[in-house]
Amino acid sequence: MKNIYAIGIGLIGGSLAIDIKNNNPDIIIHGISRKDATLNKALELGLIDKKATLEDLKHADLVIVSIPVDATVKLLPTILDKIPDTALVVDAGSTKADICRAVENHPKRRNFLAMHPIAGTEHSGPTAAISGLFKGKTNIVCEVEKTTFKLQEKALKLFTDIGMRIRYMNPEEHDKHIAYVSHLSHISAFMLGKTVIDKEKNERDIFDMAGSGFASTVRLAKSSPEMWTPIFKQNKANVVETLEEYIANLTTFKELMKADDYEAIFKEMESTNYIKEILKGIH
Ligand code: NAP
Repeated sequence: MKNIYAIGIGLIGGSLAIDIKNNNPDIIIHGISRKDATLNKALELGLIDKKATLEDLKHADLVIVSIPVDATVKLLPTILDKIPDTALVVDAGSTKADICRAVENHPKRRNFLAMHPIAGTEHSGPTAAISGLFKGKTNIVCEVEKTTFKLQEKALKLFTDIGMRIRYMNPEEHDKHIAYVSHLSHISAFMLGKTVIDKEKNERDIFDMAGSGFASTVRLAKSSPEMWTPIFKQNKANVVETLEEYIANLTTFKELMKADDYEAIFKEMESTNYIKEILKGIH
């Protein structure tokens, strides 16, 4: 593998570029993005070796697509049109069903591997890219059987070499589960942030009084709306279902408070402490 084209070189594309280049110094990373300023930044930061355009994809051995999921759905068929028959295309999108559907009948479907690296931060753009982001994290691979075996093997080596473990799921299953553990967490952080901002008009008060509990709980509210709006749109049915369950739990909590039922409140929290067991081994 010699020529890698990174389409989107923000947090995910840039971090993948760093780790893959560290493991394979002879590889040339070509960057493709909407804005020239983003490409220049990526060059300056050493995330990419060269700037490129979609027309250059005819030289690609591997294409990594890390752009918002609506842009991925639109661009993926064109990317497959332009690559040589031997190249592999992977995407890093946080939703999988619409993306897989967008290329299900494409003549080069077997050159594509759908994946979702479960790693990230609340920061975005090339300056957010960091090395080691994927070490010890899970990469969810969907519809692996639809990718040529040789290309599957290439991808698996590349991603296990940067420290990822691989899990297989079908796209619908992925989107259902990820709505709970990722999409709901982001909505919850955004609305927690909104609630505090609406009430506490004085930014200084928020800053002085907010402890690290608030900061860590609301952290995800710093995430990019440009990336998250299309995720919620593509995963609407699952996200709405998780929100209904979450709102029901919040309502129950409110009713217990109103009824002064602190024994029940204690029990609600005590049973939820089980999350400690579930999350053992993360961090
Ligand atoms: P990011 O830091 O905001 O970077 C996005 C990149 O996509 C930028 O280089 C941007 O370049 C480009 N871009 C934006 N809109 C575009 C469009 N309409 N067409 C073409 N390029 C466009 O985002 P990210 O966090 O790396 O996320 C990238 C992908 O990874 C998304 O699909 C996301 O769902 C997925 N993902 C994210 C996380 C996470 O925690 N952030 C985790 C796993 C997977 P310009 O500046 O040139 O527009």
